[in-house]
Amino acid sequence: MKEWRENSVMKNRWPAAYKIIDELERAGFEAFVVGGAVRDFVRNAPVNDVDITTNATPKEVKAIFPHTIDVGIEHGTVLVVLDESIEVTTYRSESTYSDFRRPDEVTFVRTLKEDLQRRDFTINAMALTKEDVLVDYFGGRLAIKEGIIQAVGNPQLRFSEDALRMLRAIRFSAQLNFSLESNTLNAIRSLHPHIAHVSIERVKVELEKIWLSDFPFKGIQLFVDSGLSNIFPGNWERSLQNWNDFSSFDVKANGWAFFALMQSKEDVNDLLNYYKCSNEEKRHVKNVLEAVHGLAKGAWTTDELFQFSEDVLSVAYYFGNSVLSKEITEPLELFLRRKRSIPIATKKDIVVNGNDLLEWANDKRGPWIKEVLDRLTSMIVNGHIKNDRNEIKGWFSHEYLH
Ligand code: ATP
Ligand code: MG
Repeated sequence: MKEWRENSVMKNRWPAAYKIIDELERAGFEAFVVGGAVRDFVRNAPVNDVDITTNATPKEVKAIFPHTIDVGIEHGTVLVVLDESIEVTTYRSESTYSDFRRPDEVTFVRTLKEDLQRRDFTINAMALTKEDVLVDYFGGRLAIKEGIIQAVGNPQLRFSEDALRMLRAIRFSAQLNFSLESNTLNAIRSLHPHIAHVSIERVKVELEKIWLSDFPFKGIQLFVDSGLSNIFPGNWERSLQNWNDFSSFDVKANGWAFFALMQSKEDVNDLLNYYKCSNEEKRHVKNVLEAVHGLAKGAWTTDELFQFSEDVLSVAYYFGNSVLSKEITEPLELFLRRKRSIPIATKKDIVVNGNDLLEWANDKRGPWIKEVLDRLTSMIVNGHIKNDRNEIKGWFSHEYLH
């Protein structure tokens, strides 16, 4: 019995967190695991990162642990570096929000309860002692049992303090398949315009968490139903039904590709710029859209199979099946097999380069080199000539040298 208890406590589950809490307690302070780790522990789900809350001030935390990093000292957060790094934050509350986003100042408070009270949802407002005793002032455990996202305290007030919480509510709902408690949902409905105060970077992060979640459709549906989507450009409503078919891909850029697929073609670039997508994300979206477009004609040509990566083809195939009216009869595996049988995987595999062409032609550099290489690529890809120096030289002499 004793052994079971020993194994069940935090000591073995989260050794670094246990050690930090133990040290803080030895120095006369209180310390608890808080936030997402407690939520996921109660849900019996894997825990990503463990955060600790304490009544020790950042200065006091730094005096106890030899290796710390000031990651957010103005908010009371210090990173304690052991075998793994753990954020330790001093009990705090947030007073007066004049911009609907950032508290004007952070006030350190004396009790755990006050710290838990400033947290967004009841499921995120629990704490755990190092002996695995749950501290749950706001009914977080019951909310988890019932599958409910509920603001701590008055939702109108909490969303007026920080508008990002509205989007977080929806994101958690999509990740956990929880419903929004009715007052919490109504508060989002009435305060949704305040989301405009949140930076687009933060919005992007939350949207991406929604479509990487297990229930992206649920999230996008709430995003639309709550009115939040009206504050942002792009046709979210039209795209709604299609998100049903969006099974979460583990690349967030696929969400942007799926979104882009349901917009007017001429709007896509402006939209991706508005949402501050990276160049890499924009490139991925462009490739997926082009590949879907190719598929819309019935099947991919060999040149298209060569042009797009297997990832892009797979995503485009899946998206195409969801949004194209025409059914794609050939299985994806057949396309991929055909791609793999192309003699070269990239242009770099061609055994001659621009310098060879220059030497053979005894000519000056110019755009002609790229034109020839492009044509040569297509000839090799389609099996018209072999990727062989002599054969290519023969072809080149015949076609371009007289
Ligand atoms: P995730 O798995 O996404 O990391 P999390 O619950 O750990 O989920 P974080 O954004 O890492 O979420 O925040 C940690 C904790 O801090 C939350 O559980 C919550 O208690 C609190 N919190 C975070 N953001 C807010 C906010 N905007 N308003 C109030 N409390 C917040
Ligand atoms: Mg977290």
